[in-house]
Amino acid sequence: MFKKILVANRGEIALRIQRACRELGVRAVMVYSEADREAKYVKLAEEAVCIGPAPSGQSYLNMPALISAAEVTDAEAIHPGYGFLSENADFAERVEKSGFTFIGPTADSIRLMGDKVSAKQAMIKAGVPCVPGSDGELPDDPAAIRRMAKVVGYPVIIKAAGGGGGRGMRVVHTEAALVHAVQTTKAEAQAAFGNPAVYMEKFLQNPRHVEIQILADQYKNAVYLGERDCSMQRRHQKIIEEAPAPGIPRKLIEKIGERCAAACKKIGYRGAGTFEFLYENGEFYFIEMNTRVQVEHPVTELITGIDIVKTQIMVAAGQKLPFTQKQIEFRGHAIECRINAEDPFNFMPSPGRITMWHPPGGPGVRVDSHVYTNYFVPPNYDSMIGKVIVHGDSRDQALARMRSALGETVVEGIQTNIPLHRELFLDANFLVGGTNIHYLEKWLEAHKR
Ligand code: ADP
Repeated sequence: MFKKILVANRGEIALRIQRACRELGVRAVMVYSEADREAKYVKLAEEAVCIGPAPSGQSYLNMPALISAAEVTDAEAIHPGYGFLSENADFAERVEKSGFTFIGPTADSIRLMGDKVSAKQAMIKAGVPCVPGSDGELPDDPAAIRRMAKVVGYPVIIKAAGGGGGRGMRVVHTEAALVHAVQTTKAEAQAAFGNPAVYMEKFLQNPRHVEIQILADQYKNAVYLGERDCSMQRRHQKIIEEAPAPGIPRKLIEKIGERCAAACKKIGYRGAGTFEFLYENGEFYFIEMNTRVQVEHPVTELITGIDIVKTQIMVAAGQKLPFTQKQIEFRGHAIECRINAEDPFNFMPSPGRITMWHPPGGPGVRVDSHVYTNYFVPPNYDSMIGKVIVHGDSRDQALARMRSALGETVVEGIQTNIPLHRELFLDANFLVGGTNIHYLEKWLEAHKR
């Protein structure tokens, strides 16, 4: 096991990794920008290094600053968390070239999965079902593009190979709009991602977002930890996640999970990862892989009892996965609400000083958050200030626990989306389960105020 790890991130995930290190007896070096000096994990740290001013470009995205922080503190490995540099293959490579272990997959795996065209091709080869569409990058020839769209069937979606964060996508309903849409998406993709390659997929009308969590070691052992339903989204940002996904037959999950684990073995994947799928009419369609720990990992931890972050660190240190697929048991139901510092109904960010923070508690309630009373939420970063996660024997029990937890949470001084969550946990359709990825947007439209 490592003696010391540098945590190259901020916010709740930095605290989450710090906690995992403590349990493992590993010393965690925390980094912080000038805006994050007051964060809980910095105050709790045995060692902390300031890596630069508030803007992330000069701090959390500053590769030389992070690597020198690891050098001066004699850390052996770097945990990238999520966001920032976590899926940056060049960073993974520089970390390893500088003599540290990158807690994640190899730079080659990140590169393969970071390009959606090569990711899809690798998944097709590994037998993972994908959304029907173009066989790789679209050609320049307009006639060829039109022929492809005819075969795929309208509506189609044009997506950037290098896209991410819900950007670089365009839905096309008619042949008349096709070629122009392809050209515009290409130009945008070049400008935003430095890569003009685009591809085509059938646009699924009312899918759910269901993803499979995997863990793999360097010895070609790979397991799946079940699924998460993350269909409650606004602008492609998840706000509620749960496991298991309501109403999906276990046999189907097992089949798709085994395919994902087999794909990991095939591509030599190591660490934690998530295969994201759209699910419609009883079929799974792969859309992309995240090669890192995700915000919503706790729901899986609660139903499996497996600590995903600790396991990431253990496999990065060269240990074997400590369990086999057969030993993984799924128990009960878990739900997560992301708590954001924003207006609950117009979504304007609401940074500032928290004058009162009273997190919920009780049986089956977990809160992952780096904030506290008198903490100042800086305006420079993502608005998420924490997560409330509940576990129950059944979905109904988990829903009741979440309602109760949201009811006792008090955050004063800034606005949060808790009032929105409270309303959603009374919504009849959400309570039934299985709402699709458009449900929340439509709900918000219908409940405009
Ligand atoms: P990103 O990396 O930008 O998040 P994804 O490929 O994961 O891009 O797609 C983001 C979202 O766009 C999906 O969650 C879904 O809502 C929508 N989407 C992507 N591909 C399709 C498709 N073929 N049909 C319908 N919706 C899609």
